[in-house]
Amino acid sequence: MDFSMKRRTLLKVIVLGDSGVGKTSLMNQYVYNKFNQQYKATIGADFVTKELQIDDKLVTLQQGKKRFQSLGSAFYRGADCCVIVFDVNIQRSFESLSNWREEFLKQADPSDPESFPFIVIGNKIDLDGGNSRMVPEKKARDWCASRGNIPYFETSAKEDHNVDEAFLCVAKTAVACER
Ligand code: GDP
Repeated sequence: MDFSMKRRTLLKVIVLGDSGVGKTSLMNQYVYNKFNQQYKATIGADFVTKELQIDDKLVTLQQGKKRFQSLGSAFYRGADCCVIVFDVNIQRSFESLSNWREEFLKQADPSDPESFPFIVIGNKIDLDGGNSRMVPEKKARDWCASRGNIPYFETSAKEDHNVDEAFLCVAKTAVACER
């Protein structure tokens, strides 16, 4: 397909959430269709990109996750969308959502914080066949609904469940806000 006449857009997406919730796994599943069981905590910031077409636009979705607390506001600045991930099996990771949201708003300092696009992902729904879930879906949906109707997705990076759908929503939301 000839994309030469299409508008090209680079969208910066920041992926936040407690360590171990599956941020890297979700990004790898979405971009490379790969899942790695091994836990690999490295340092710095990770960015991966994926191109997709939305309406008449060729969009490069640049997704970044942070591995360093000390990476300053440069990491956050210019973000078009913020994805916050928690593990549905770990209550504490759900309780961290507010902190991550506040941290993002403080660091990224968007011009209109009230309407900045967030998306929340509850990951690892496959774990133990769903028997080790600690955060009911309704609780997560209520949290999102009471904060300006943040879109909520439940995913399994391991089983590639709902991952494409979640990131497509991310891309569409970011494109809509950018217009
Ligand atoms: P991050 O620190 O948030 O980037 O988390 P990782 O992506 O490194 O994942 C932490 C661990 O959880 C790794 O061992 C992954 O293999 C595992 N993991 C990630 N997503 C899932 C999932 O959807 N289901 C299951 N069962 N394990 C997952």
